Amino acid sequence: MARLLGDEFPAFLASFDATPSTGLRVNTLKITPERFREIAPFDLAPVPWCPAGFVVDDVPGTCEVPGTCRLSGVPAGKHPYHAAGLYYLQDPAAMAATEILAPQPGERVLDLAAAPGGKATHIASLMAGEGLLIANEIHHQRAWDLAENLERWGGRNIAITVETPERLAERFEGFFDAVLLDAPCSGEGMLRRSEAARREWAPELIGGCSLRQSAILEHAARLVRPGGRLAYATCTFAPEEDEGTVARFLQDHPEFELMAPPHQAGFAPGRPEWIAADVPGNSELPGTWPDLTRAVRLWPHLAPGEGHFIALLRKCATGTASGGWPRVWRPARLPRAAEQAYRDFCMDNLMVVPATERLALVGSYLYALPPDLPDLTGLRFLHPGWWLGAIKGNRFEPSHALALALRLEYACRTANLAADRPEILAYLRGETFPSPGDDGWALVAVDGYPLGWGKRVGRVMKSKYPKGLRRG
Ligand code: SAM
Repeated sequence: MARLLGDEFPAFLASFDATPSTGLRVNTLKITPERFREIAPFDLAPVPWCPAGFVVDDVPGTCEVPGTCRLSGVPAGKHPYHAAGLYYLQDPAAMAATEILAPQPGERVLDLAAAPGGKATHIASLMAGEGLLIANEIHHQRAWDLAENLERWGGRNIAITVETPERLAERFEGFFDAVLLDAPCSGEGMLRRSEAARREWAPELIGGCSLRQSAILEHAARLVRPGGRLAYATCTFAPEEDEGTVARFLQDHPEFELMAPPHQAGFAPGRPEWIAADVPGNSELPGTWPDLTRAVRLWPHLAPGEGHFIALLRKCATGTASGGWPRVWRPARLPRAAEQAYRDFCMDNLMVVPATERLALVGSYLYALPPDLPDLTGLRFLHPGWWLGAIKGNRFEPSHALALALRLEYACRTANLAADRPEILAYLRGETFPSPGDDGWALVAVDGYPLGWGKRVGRVMKSKYPKGLRRG
């Protein structure tokens, strides 16, 4: 980096001694950024390229007397607003990738390497619940983290697959309006924040990463429809993994063009001169190099966040979608008893039946499938859509995902508590708390935003907060 950055290097190096900033992105599916700023107990400074993004003053604090905690000074990741899915903690630089891809409501969007879900939650918010988002993660264990984060986010139009990019490309060639490849990389943008990243980094990593990125990018490209967009992102500074991977890709794919996203304060250009010597055929393709300045670099010494590289590619509109259109998933008709159990639950506990179309039973789990969802048969997936709950005999048991995607006013019974009430901590620990009102299923909420289900019996609320999420 000293050789590449020259005069800029001291400022870059000095940035590693600064405290990393914590980014927070507001969930616009649930609350506006303006309203969130009014209720947030943190100081928030806007991120220039992301209207819902902020840098948060996250001084870790603890509850002095456990159980009676007033919650001021609690780190942002432990606040009940976080449990209600009002925000995601994300590096401000990482927010730029989704803003540059600019997914639109109604589109078909694929996040190919999605865990733990920072960018997938961002995509879900920009799609405003309309269209189809497939969030894919190749590693099963990481896919569960993705599922947990998306569940809290409250999106209804999301399927979570656990597949290789190759298998997805074979099935869904030319299907997506927009694909994000947030590629596995050498993670140099994590060095300031993470001791593990510092331990694992080695110069030899870079060559291997760039080969792997090129392989995944090949599959990602097949998934984009003619005229569609592909965003390639890394959180590393190594030119071989950034401009280098994109240059090799453009050489092999004349059907793609590198686009210049709208400029924002803090966006620096890609640096084609850094890879000129490394890419074979460079001298034969002089026209390719200036294009790479259209890629975006975010630097920790020039902008909030840890650093990122983003290239926005557009597939030529006249290309062919050689795979044809995959079939839309037509779910088998629901067994009458299962549908009745679900409807009975809604009648007894909700003001609405939140989903009535494309209901599908997968094992005992009831889902509402997104409208455009292609047939996933034969692929590995965790959730093919909005998980509503489970059918247990002739009973319907609502899921956490149902609670987190509902508005409080849709529930017949509620326990709506201010953020500083001790009952909230009791609820999040899985404990009961006194709660006047009718018996039955109730939405427990913080300041009007659902945290999950509870079951009230005789003025006592039993917490139905999922066991795996409970606080110690
Ligand atoms: N987009 C995520 C977010 O914003 O939270 C971060 C993604 S992380 C940079 C890269 C992901 O790629 C990891 O979750 C990793 O498991 C996955 N991955 C690793 N090898 C892969 C491969 N060969 N194909 C696809 N994904 C892979």
